[in-house]
Amino acid sequence: MTEAFTYTGLPARVVFGSGTLVRIPEELRALGCGRALVLSTPEQLESAQTVASRLGDLCAGTFTQAAMHTPVEVTERAVKAVREMDADCTVAIGGGSTTGLGKAIALRTDLPQIVVPTTYAGSEVTPILGETQDGRKTTQRSVKVLPEVIIYDVDLTLTLPPALSATSGINAIAHAVEALYTQDANPVISMMAERGIEALARALPPIMKNPVDKGARSDALFGAWLCGMCLGAVGMALHHKLCHTLGGSFNLPHAETHTVVLPHAVAYNAPAAPDAMTRVSIALGASNAAQGLFDLAKSLGAPTSLGEIGMREADLDRAAELATLSPYWNPRAIERDAIRALLDDAFYGRRPHSP
Ligand code: NAD
Repeated sequence: MTEAFTYTGLPARVVFGSGTLVRIPEELRALGCGRALVLSTPEQLESAQTVASRLGDLCAGTFTQAAMHTPVEVTERAVKAVREMDADCTVAIGGGSTTGLGKAIALRTDLPQIVVPTTYAGSEVTPILGETQDGRKTTQRSVKVLPEVIIYDVDLTLTLPPALSATSGINAIAHAVEALYTQDANPVISMMAERGIEALARALPPIMKNPVDKGARSDALFGAWLCGMCLGAVGMALHHKLCHTLGGSFNLPHAETHTVVLPHAVAYNAPAAPDAMTRVSIALGASNAAQGLFDLAKSLGAPTSLGEIGMREADLDRAAELATLSPYWNPRAIERDAIRALLDDAFYGRRPHSP
């Protein structure tokens, strides 16, 4: 029996494939635009230049200073560049950091956006924008920041280093896992979540062996899109709260933190979400969801302990306090001592117990 549900679809045009970057000029014209500001991080300046030369006269200029956590002062400089160049849209090529800059510009200017994602973070399909100012991170939801067009070009992901592919892929899986047990879970998003986890769990191991395996790369990128849809459509729970706390207050790296915490957040929630656990374990091809996620990370050579990604043991008590202040909705009640124990397991990288 299909239970009653509420589902809100978010508009976006998606172009997916290999070599799809060549479609940028026609997509830009279809939006009614003709003067794009191309965005990237300093590390991906070459990609920005490739896009700029492909656009030719349709490019107004480049801004290649996108940075982690979307600092407001960088956005303000980019908005100034938009005005000076009289740009009428942005093209962001890169990971979540570059996408974040495009969204922050859209929030302030209403300019249409084309996003060309090169990681598995999934920000391109969410109406969520996280920004930092004076060391403080704020997050907001607004359809104003939702990109109009997403061009997924599998070829651009071939250069994503294996270590970043592993953690970025598990970061994506985390969106799908929490979508399966969130309070506003619905059958449309759950379908995407299962398929997203399955695609990434299957694709990541061959990518570690051969980063230019196009078949595996296309499955991983498709999976990342599905997982991003989950993040954009439904609320997240304990896992994302923990990662935001650890990232925001202890400056831990984004995708690595997700990778380490996920098996432990899932183990915590397992008794309260048995149906979601079954779905996750089937999608992973494992007998237990939390252990399957831990084993996947380990097999990819990804970090499995908070200690190895820069957390100090002395900060675990404070992390437990912060993570239990104004908690997100969660299937299992948030208990401070149990969260402290979870953080201890994550700190030492212990394989979760079978319930
Ligand atoms: P990132 O965008 O910071 O990229 C990491 C590094 O890898 C950068 O130097 C980038 O230039 C480089 N890189 C990216 N793709 C590459 C490729 N194909 N080849 C070679 N190098 C490449 O990392 P990320 O994990 O994609 O994004 C993390 C950020 O995105 C965080 O700030 C996070 O908060 C945000 N995020 C936001 C949402 C949302 O919905 N708002 C969702 C997910 C992540």
